[in-house]
This record gives sequence, structure tokens and C-alpha cells, in this order.
Amino acid sequence: MFKSMSVETKTAAELAVMAEAGRLLAEVHAELAKAVAPGVTTAELDAVAAAGIKARKAKAAFIGYRGFPATLCVSVNAEVVHGIPSKTRVLAEGDIVGLDLGLIWKGFYADSAVTHPVGKVSPAARKLIAATSAALEAGLAEAVAGRRIGDIGEAVQTVAEKAGYSVVREFVGHGIGRALHEDPPVPNYGKAGTGLRLAPGMVLAIEPMVNAGGPDVRVLSDGWTAVTSDGALSAHFEHTVAVTEDGPRVLTRLG
Ligand code: MG
Ligand code: MG
Repeated sequence: MFKSMSVETKTAAELAVMAEAGRLLAEVHAELAKAVAPGVTTAELDAVAAAGIKARKAKAAFIGYRGFPATLCVSVNAEVVHGIPSKTRVLAEGDIVGLDLGLIWKGFYADSAVTHPVGKVSPAARKLIAATSAALEAGLAEAVAGRRIGDIGEAVQTVAEKAGYSVVREFVGHGIGRALHEDPPVPNYGKAGTGLRLAPGMVLAIEPMVNAGGPDVRVLSDGWTAVTSDGALSAHFEHTVAVTEDGPRVLTRLG
């Protein structure tokens, strides 16, 4: 089943560069976190991301990728992923906003996403954000040599579904390295003990998209923005993680 896949493992030197990339990306995300507030437009957040990447002499990964028109994917409320920043989309108190960002540093990609509350949000929104973040953490904990891709998927899915939510099937995580999207695909659902066996040097972007309602999504007429079919809230978290001899090494986290 996996014969057609070419899963690259990275050398220690390559992982060191990817860790630099991840660190830079985490720094830009920290700047974005400070910029999220009621009254801010999604285009202003895109500008913060672009300036943060430029200041670090890195390169934005998403702009131009299959024609994506911006640096940052900004997905508000029922938007799941791939929202396009806009000067007319103003964040309001009570919104939740998913920020997905990638950059290139010395030829290697880093990719991570976080969903922020905008001002004070409902308990339901807070719970969804917390559960999605917890689902990501459960997935990251399975990025261990000898375990399988299905271990990650089942861990993510279990946390999300135990909280009463559903995981999106149409979009999945991915290997990452000299390309943004490498093998293997990393679904946010699955069966433990199945799928590709993880080995040291593999680097994965694990990225649960968790819906408060059903799992179905559709893409808007802009060709990019994915929204929940039932209009319910959705949250998205992502980290780039290396499988190492010493366990999971999350590259896109500060400290
Ligand atoms: Mg991403
Ligand atoms: Mg990704």
C-alpha cells in the first residue's frame, strides 16, 4: 500500500535547519497572537505575518502556492481552513480565528496553525479551541519511532470525538521538508496499529481540523475557503514535529 510513497528522512543537519525554520515561524505566530483583537481586519493580520517573515529574512511559503493570494490563511468561525485575508473582513468580539502560516528557511519549510479567541468568546467556542489543541497534543505524542500513522490519527480523533466534536476528513496533515507537502499523508482519524511505520528523521505536520457539528466541509466560490457544511464552528491547530530517537521533537514551538 505504501510502496508508491517516498517518505524522506532528514539528517541531523537538516533537522537542525528545520528547527531554525520552526523557531522563526513560532516567533511570527507570537507576533500574530498579539495582533488578534476585535476591530482588526484579516488583511492586517496577513500584513503582520508578511512583515514578520521578511524581518527574519525567511520566505513566505503559501503565497503563490497553487495560486494562493496571501501569506497567511485566516479562517473565521465556521471557516475551517484556507480563508483568504481581506481588508473588509473585520474581526469581532466573540469570533474565533484560525491562523495557518508557513515559511521557508534555508530551503526547508515549517508549517503551523493556531486558533485564537477574539476578545471574550462563548464557553462553547473556548471548549472547541481547547479540545482541538488537546487533539493536536495527543497526535504529537504519537510521533514516535516504531509507531504508525494510524496511531496519530486515532489519538487525534479520539480526543476530538470524546469532546463531542467531529474531525474533518477532506484535509489532512502531511510530511514536510524541502517541500511544503510531502509524503506521508497524516489523517486526523484512523486506526491505531495501521499505516506507515514511523522512523527517526521523519518530519510531519500534524493538523487537526475539528468541527463543533458534523465533519462535512465545502469550498466557497473563491476556490479556497473551506467552511463547515452545517455552519457550525471549526478550529484548527498544527505543529511541525520531527520523529527522533528521543521521541517527538516539536519544531514550531517557542521554548
Ligand atoms: Mg498549515
Ligand atoms: Mg499543513
